[in-house]
Amino acid sequence: MFSRVLVANRGEIALRVIRTCRRLGIETVAVYSEADRGAVYLRLADHRYCIGPPEVARSYLKIESIIAAAEVADVEAIHPGYGFLAENARFADVCRSCQIAFVGPPVEALSLLGDKVKAKALAKKAGVPVVPGSDGPVADDKAALELAHKIGYPVLIKAAAGGGGRGMRAVHNDASLVTALAAARAEAQIAFGASAVYIEKLIERAHHVEIQILADAHGNVIYLGERDCTVQRRHQKLIEETPSPVLTPKLREAMGRAAVRLVKEAGYVNAGTVEFLVDKDLNFYFIEVNSRIQVEHPVTEMATGLDIVEEQLRIASGEPLRYRQKDVNPTGHVIECRINAEDPDAGFAPRPGRIVTFFPPAGDGIRIDTHVHSGYEVPPQYDSLVAKLIVRGADRMDAIRRMRGALDEFILDGIPSTIPFHRRVLDHPAFLKGEHYTKFVDEELME
Ligand code: ADP
Ligand code: ADP
Ligand code: MG
Repeated sequence: MFSRVLVANRGEIALRVIRTCRRLGIETVAVYSEADRGAVYLRLADHRYCIGPPEVARSYLKIESIIAAAEVADVEAIHPGYGFLAENARFADVCRSCQIAFVGPPVEALSLLGDKVKAKALAKKAGVPVVPGSDGPVADDKAALELAHKIGYPVLIKAAAGGGGRGMRAVHNDASLVTALAAARAEAQIAFGASAVYIEKLIERAHHVEIQILADAHGNVIYLGERDCTVQRRHQKLIEETPSPVLTPKLREAMGRAAVRLVKEAGYVNAGTVEFLVDKDLNFYFIEVNSRIQVEHPVTEMATGLDIVEEQLRIASGEPLRYRQKDVNPTGHVIECRINAEDPDAGFAPRPGRIVTFFPPAGDGIRIDTHVHSGYEVPPQYDSLVAKLIVRGADRMDAIRRMRGALDEFILDGIPSTIPFHRRVLDHPAFLKGEHYTKFVDEELME
């Protein structure tokens, strides 16, 4: 195992990784931008280095600065968290050339899966069902129209390099397809630096169900069950739970096996997530792989008792998996609510600012992942996530009741947050019956 690790991230996930390192006796090196100078969680690291000004391009995304800190601190490994450089193949490549272990997949798997078009082709090759659509990036308007006629409207235009819920456009007819295509290309170029787009059938009233996997460097791959992330706004997750209210044991096993086949085909190593959509007839379709730890990983940790960050570090240091598929037995029902500094009534617009009082719920079956506290100033430059509230119950209804209680207890004054929104979802009949779908918040709840 490593003796010193740099955490190339900020906020709750940086703290989350530091916690596991401390428990494992690994020394930690934190990095921070000027906007995070003095942040309380940085005190829990053994060493900390300022890597630049608040703008991400000059700090958390600046490979040179992070590598410089890693060299000065003489670390053996870098944990990238999620977002920022976590899925950046060039960063993983630079780490490799500096002989620093990147706690994530090999460069080749990262570049392959970072391109959603290539990832879909790979899934097909591994015998994993994919959403019907273009076999590659769409070449021109003519090809797009032909394809849309073949698969039938509505269709979705997606950026090959997309992520974070961005770069998607639903299209309902020929007239809007051509204009949407041009707009999507332009947007993708600006947002992701690559204009390639592809077309998929728009799966209506779908559940988003993803499979957490662990793969070691010795060819062993296991899945840790699923997370249902159907409660979303603008393609971004707000609530995640396990087990999924729509999966049967048979479907779970089929999806788990499909995920394992796919990551084996990709030569993937470390923790990762294979995302699927499940339609109302319970057909499942691969959409993408997230080649990193995910925001919602604690849901799986609470259900399985595993520490995914520990497994990531062990895998990156070359250890074989300590579990076989039969050793993984998730129990109970776990729900996570993302507490964001956002105003749900203003289209979930970010509302950074000073938190006056922060008093999170606690007690049996409650986990809070956060870096904030009373008096903390949420900086405007970064993600609006301030806390993750994860609750475990005996079954789904028990978990929902406990989550309602935890949200009612949660005191967060000074800035608007998603707490009241979550409370509304947890009372909504569609959610209670598991009959919600990925557009349910946008189309029904907020109407
Ligand atoms: P998860 O599936 O783990 O919830 P998200 O899609 O919510 O993943 O992304 C996790 C984090 O990474 C968020 O902070 C999100 O803003 C960021 N992120 C993901 N992909 C991108 C991307 N392509 N560009 C910028 N930020 C991204
Ligand atoms: P990102 O990289 O931004 O996470 P994904 O491909 O994972 O993009 O899709 C994010 C979300 O967008 C999904 O959870 C789902 O709500 C929606 N989505 C993606 N593809 C489709 C599709 N073919 N049909 C319907 N909804 C989709
Ligand atoms: Mg996704």
